[in-house]
Amino acid sequence: MRTFWHKSYVCPVCNSQFEAVRIFSEAIKVKSRESDLKPVYEGVNALMFQLVSCPKCLYTSFEEDFENLTSSQAETIARMHEKLKQIEIDLSENKTVRDAAVQYNVAAAMYAAREKFFRAAESFLKLAWLYRDAGAPDEEKKALERAKELFLKSYTEEDLSEDRQIAALFYLGEIEKRFGNRRESVRWFSELFRRFSKSDSIYARQARQEWQEVSSEK
Ligand SMILES: [Zn+2]
Repeated sequence: MRTFWHKSYVCPVCNSQFEAVRIFSEAIKVKSRESDLKPVYEGVNALMFQLVSCPKCLYTSFEEDFENLTSSQAETIARMHEKLKQIEIDLSENKTVRDAAVQYNVAAAMYAAREKFFRAAESFLKLAWLYRDAGAPDEEKKALERAKELFLKSYTEEDLSEDRQIAALFYLGEIEKRFGNRRESVRWFSELFRRFSKSDSIYARQARQEWQEVSSEK
């Protein structure tokens, strides 16, 4: 079975045309999920290939919203190029964890510059997952810390859909739980149940399980 294919893009920041590596959907196999819903992949680690980066200007985002950029946001991103042009990065199917980590850091910085804090938080969350898979707990913790800050900023300042509000509350509770901050964790999960008591989303269901665990700890 083939794993990779190449998709063409036009960069909305610098207009260059390029191809990026994508994974065939049938090559992505989720074996299980961890308590924070991190997928455990069998075979290729799809976390390595969720972002698309323009090789010329390094504009980076999740594949789904690569083209969703207003002209003023594109100008903001273009101004970041000066700082990024020293970065060397392998964007091929042979990329390493370090290359993918650079992509997540660049994506997070660019989403934050565009005030897309939820997306920036997700970039750090996935960076943390990448480090978990690589067995780098200190790096994972740093990335989770940044994800937590940005989920909080997103939840309090950004105009989020209901699904994203639920996800932000779930991750605030879940990350505090992982850090051993039981009281904070219970507080965020409780806020999720109070505000979205009828939700049957995967986050709300997982939050109930996690809340039970954290509130029964002595
Ligand atoms: Zn570009």
